[in-house]
Amino acid sequence: MPSLTVNEARTRATSIAVTSYDVQLDLTRGDQAFHSRTTIEFRSRDHQDSFLDVAPAELHSVRLNKRPVDVTELHDGRLHLRDLADENVVEVDALMAYSHDGEGLHRAVDPEDGQAYVYAMAFLPAPRIFACFDQPDLKAPYRVTVRAPEQCTVLGNGAATQVQPGVWSLAETKPLSTYFVTLVAGPYHSLRAEHDGIPLGLHCRQSLAPHLDKDAEELFSVTAACFDEYHRLFGIRYPFGEYHQAFVPEFNAGAMENPGCVTFSDDLVFKAPATDNLRATRAMVVAHEMAHQWFGDLVTMQWWDDLWLNESFAEYMGYRVTSEVTPFTDVRAEFALSRKAWGMAADQRTSTHPVAGNGARDAKEALTNFDGISYTKGAASLRQLNAYLGDEAFLAGVVDHLHRHSYGNATLTDLVQSWEQASGKGRPRMGRRVAAHRGVGHAGLPHRRCRARGHYAPQRIAH
Ligand SMILES: [Zn+2]
Repeated sequence: MPSLTVNEARTRATSIAVTSYDVQLDLTRGDQAFHSRTTIEFRSRDHQDSFLDVAPAELHSVRLNKRPVDVTELHDGRLHLRDLADENVVEVDALMAYSHDGEGLHRAVDPEDGQAYVYAMAFLPAPRIFACFDQPDLKAPYRVTVRAPEQCTVLGNGAATQVQPGVWSLAETKPLSTYFVTLVAGPYHSLRAEHDGIPLGLHCRQSLAPHLDKDAEELFSVTAACFDEYHRLFGIRYPFGEYHQAFVPEFNAGAMENPGCVTFSDDLVFKAPATDNLRATRAMVVAHEMAHQWFGDLVTMQWWDDLWLNESFAEYMGYRVTSEVTPFTDVRAEFALSRKAWGMAADQRTSTHPVAGNGARDAKEALTNFDGISYTKGAASLRQLNAYLGDEAFLAGVVDHLHRHSYGNATLTDLVQSWEQASGKGRPRMGRRVAAHRGVGHAGLPHRRCRARGHYAPQRIAH
């Protein structure tokens, strides 16, 4: 598939607005592929041609406003849409392949008991799961229906209800970017609780059940404390209904902040007695992903070149909140001594780059230089900015930003404007300042280059 350019994304977002997605997935078609039927309602502002993103194993049929579209016109994951009306409906019927690389709808078989589990990772490969307009600033509500083997539990962004044996209906979501859509299905072991009116769930594969049970109290306790703190700091209720934390197999990153259903690597379900350091890291990942529910999910970057801000903010808040409201009060020392070294090491290389303002022309380019600088140097920069503005103004700016752009998209410039108004201070010219501070790290400490993803990277738990 060609990488979406920023110009293509701007043109498409100017031309169309997506009203809703209705996604029906059938996971009972064998272990190689699943059936995906998507109905998208969208408006055309200018009646200009547009295109849909879809990457199927087989494209069965496409209808646009009840007229068939020639499926042989699908090229490189794009389907041209012509003759658009003010209001449009496109229906796409396809067979999609399960993935085994952690992207798309990943299917894993537990070698311990032979049971199969699937989960969706839509960050960039959303068109491998359902047809869509795959860019962060075309948000829409989702209605998802899933047919799954009867022994499966199904989870997703909206609360899941089994409406008949093996058929699950997920509650309609708030407007979401395509890359947040997830689905978790399998004979998962589940633990449920509630905090402050928010239904909570912890989930893992059956063979890890005793280990999750052992740590469930700690995980629920950290989750509850983080919710209380984010509610206090942001003054906005958690907006996505239920909050599930699914520890999924063969996840190739640390975690992903899908609204309402965060997926984590099940390496974070500890099979052996864990050190305090490992438990603190896990608590920080919980806090990091929860910060994204507001900053990232409720308000989302307009384009991928602000992904660093998404991650740096979650990194900063994750360490801050973990140190202040969980038993792991010294986690910031871990950041200073170890985690930040990841960014420092990246800063020593010829591939070093400014934290912000890297000016990506397409989605892949935006993610090429996405590394420890984007997480930890960015987080350290935000902490410096907090010191410059004062905590009250820093938070007031963030709250203003979250209110102003709820369920929409925003940029670094928007956030800086909120900080300017909240603090009365001039623009900190963040990109240039950060760019000028290169080369201050020291090399040689263990690190792992972050894979280009909009979520917590597994650097810390990889060694
Ligand atoms: Zn993250």
